[in-house]
Amino acid sequence: MVEVTATDEWRIIVPLRFNRANHGQLPNIDCPEVDDRGYIKGNRPNPWGDTTVRGPSFGVLAGDAVRVRVVRDDIDGDVPLAATSSDPAVLTVRNANGLIAPDGELWVEGQASGTAAIDIHLGDARGPVLGQADVRVHSRLRVALTPHLVRIDSTTTNGVVPAMPIDQMIRRLRAIWRPCGIDFNVRATVNDTTRLPSNRVNFMDLESANWLTDVRGILGLQRSRLGLAAGTRDQSINWYIIQEFVPGADGSTTVGLGVSRRTADDWGVNDTGIIVAARANGAARDHEFSSRTLAHEVGHFFRLEHVQRRNADRPVRDTYGRRQLMYPLSSLSGGTGGVALPRFDNVGYGDGVRGCLLTMKNHNHHSTDGECATARNAIHSNNWF
Ligand SMILES: [Zn+2]
Repeated sequence: MVEVTATDEWRIIVPLRFNRANHGQLPNIDCPEVDDRGYIKGNRPNPWGDTTVRGPSFGVLAGDAVRVRVVRDDIDGDVPLAATSSDPAVLTVRNANGLIAPDGELWVEGQASGTAAIDIHLGDARGPVLGQADVRVHSRLRVALTPHLVRIDSTTTNGVVPAMPIDQMIRRLRAIWRPCGIDFNVRATVNDTTRLPSNRVNFMDLESANWLTDVRGILGLQRSRLGLAAGTRDQSINWYIIQEFVPGADGSTTVGLGVSRRTADDWGVNDTGIIVAARANGAARDHEFSSRTLAHEVGHFFRLEHVQRRNADRPVRDTYGRRQLMYPLSSLSGGTGGVALPRFDNVGYGDGVRGCLLTMKNHNHHSTDGECATARNAIHSNNWF
């Protein structure tokens, strides 16, 4: 059988593919997601220049060694394959003589910011090329992150401090954002207490007069704790961990919010930040789900939108959309009538869980593509806290 990967009117036949090295398992810092959406040329984000590479793309932080899996679709496991880098000053191959064992594991190391192609040859490094990958090596962008454990008292009762395994969640956050070269400088956890009409955060729909009252109060906690005037910007992503949002009438509930500077200005609130709930509908959330929510809300903070600008009520229906971190549902079985369940269990984290891909490619027909470049540009803009 020959694997055919198609996008739009293009069709390229390749005898091998590249996969996340630990496909099927949880995010890991040395296993970047592989963006294999379409093998046409010229779909890089603008600042990265043009390419003639036909193949998937992934990102590496300069100085990091990472692994990907070369999957043989129409080649026997004992046929020798060898990898080379088009520019060893940018990216080196760590396998001895470039040779790829039958398990397909390929280690590469980012050397300096830039782009390089990996060629997979039949036989040895001089053999014909059977497949390629386009690799972006990033310089490190470091972003400050301040966790807050927020106890919300009501007018009549004391709230409780939410339970969240912060260190474990940050490990996942780092792993998910690593292929974009983005790292986090995590500050000491702050304990905050506030008072709201109920013990939960009411994030109401746009039609309600007071839809932002609770959210505005939470996002302002860091500034008010420090006694700073409205309009003062904190040079950190303030991550507010709350117990729970108020569920909607239909039983669905918000589990996270990411408010970038742009969103804060649109909404007319002073402060940026992200809010992640430890519980939903009265029950504790799985910590791995919460970790992905944290990474997703950080994506909003970096100005990323939901896939194709379609929210939880109308998510895209393609498999690639479900593989993206910015898919609007964290649980694929959570869509109305199970609408989001994939036909095939190939998202990479089980068939009920959205993926963690931050797109490297920038397809013309995709309205929110090139996410890695968008996030880095937002950070470079210096106007985003
Ligand atoms: Zn979202």
